[in-house]
Amino acid sequence: MEFNVFEHFKGFERTSEGPRTPEEQGTRFFLGGHLGPRISEQLDVSARRAGLSRRNFLASASALPAAMLAVNNITGMRFFDVTPAEAYEPAAAKEIKVSRKPGNDFIVDAHTHICTRKDGYIPGVNTTERGMWFVQLLDDLGKAMGLPNGTKDMTVENFGKLILEGSDTSVAVFNPFGFREDYGGKDMIPIEEQAEVKKRWPTRTVMLGGGLTPNQGLSETLERMTMFVEKYQISGLKLYTFDSTKKRGWWFDDQKLAYPMWEKARKLGLKNIGCHKGIPFGQFMARYAHPEDLDAVCDDFTDLNFIAYHSAWPYQHELAALKGFKPQRKNLYAEVGSTFAATVTNRPLECAHVLGTLLRDLGPDYVMWGTDSALWGNPQWQIDAFRKFRIPDQLVEGHGYPPLTDELKAKVFGLNAARIWNLKTTTSAAPMEPRRPVAV
Ligand SMILES: [Zn+2]
Repeated sequence: MEFNVFEHFKGFERTSEGPRTPEEQGTRFFLGGHLGPRISEQLDVSARRAGLSRRNFLASASALPAAMLAVNNITGMRFFDVTPAEAYEPAAAKEIKVSRKPGNDFIVDAHTHICTRKDGYIPGVNTTERGMWFVQLLDDLGKAMGLPNGTKDMTVENFGKLILEGSDTSVAVFNPFGFREDYGGKDMIPIEEQAEVKKRWPTRTVMLGGGLTPNQGLSETLERMTMFVEKYQISGLKLYTFDSTKKRGWWFDDQKLAYPMWEKARKLGLKNIGCHKGIPFGQFMARYAHPEDLDAVCDDFTDLNFIAYHSAWPYQHELAALKGFKPQRKNLYAEVGSTFAATVTNRPLECAHVLGTLLRDLGPDYVMWGTDSALWGNPQWQIDAFRKFRIPDQLVEGHGYPPLTDELKAKVFGLNAARIWNLKTTTSAAPMEPRRPVAV
């Protein structure tokens, strides 16, 4: 199957060797979108100025700055804080990358996954056709991002290599996948397997429980939630309101089905409840990806935090309205995983609107960084892209969006997540050995 995760990356070229550096990984995504051909022309110019072959230039530190500079030139708007020197002098690009990091450099990736299990995903045996759609989507994305075997490479081992060692991420919040109906009656990622991540990196990971849908039976759901806390000490939940049962979905504000779950969560001391919103992929019903059901629960459970993963994109306005018109609210959060990666690379204007809308209406204290890695391989290029991303002045002026200052980026990158998960915001938890790009 051709790589077309979000359709607009149809032009993505998968090379046999895969991306050699995070810079190349991100740059190839810029090249895959509709601006790709024009970015490509400008990359060739930068490569010539740098005195490098195109192939070698793509793997250099200048590749990503060159793609960003090209986007600024093509659109006539300053989406990226990038200089021409960075775009053709790899040494300058490297130096700027190290010396000009905004914020205090404490990065919490609120949205990370492993995506393989010991039983594997075997069509017709332990995986339905619909279950395979999702596996295929993740396989394609992983292969494009430098994981030659797709989901089979999204292992515990590589989680550490790519996210914790291979990027500037300080702490990774680990997200589960359930959908048992599609995966032979067993969670897509069983909790005992995901718990290995926490065991390996106890100070640098936060583990969420999932695979809970009340359509599988409320009492069973509540029992599993209790077991997750007692046996695995989870730090919150990440759920899906679409599911693979016959009903195909449920709502967070369902007083009969869902409220007992939040009451249970409260008793168990689980404060942070995340939900996949937006990105209605594969086998799932788009209607359940809308975020309105967070409205009532935010009011009725003010002691719990509700996090809309993916920022509900492309329904981010619905999410933003839940706070924009109800400014008293203090427990509604957005997380930007996959949404940022998919838009920053080839719909920069949309990216600026999504971030601007969320930051203006939910507020700078309620938007959290996330990358959805290792589905997207090493997250470093996304970190680099957010460090350089800006909301152009025209949009700040015309829409009242807050400018992306270093202080604001520091909140999004780590301080907001640190507050709700009680994380120490020093970087002392980071490994002492220098980080470097990791090829898998
Ligand atoms: Zn995810």
